[in-house]
Amino acid sequence: MYGLPNTATLERAERGEVGLGGCTIFEDMPDWHCKSCGNQWFDRTDPVRIEWDQLVMRLEREHYEKLNGNATE
Ligand SMILES: [Zn+2]
Repeated sequence: MYGLPNTATLERAERGEVGLGGCTIFEDMPDWHCKSCGNQWFDRTDPVRIEWDQLVMRLEREHYEKLNGNATE
């Protein structure tokens, strides 16, 4: 799970039911974490992953458009 965890999420993390990935989001971040060996990975064919990648790309594009807009003003 990414982002700032709420109390319920922290309790789940303490029980080992969910892994916390932090608030920083970038490309190719893992969706899965193995509790046994610590391996982390993602599956590009996962529909949720595809939707997520599209969201990240859109946010990055908007971010850079905003930066470029400010640079030319
Ligand atoms: Zn493993």
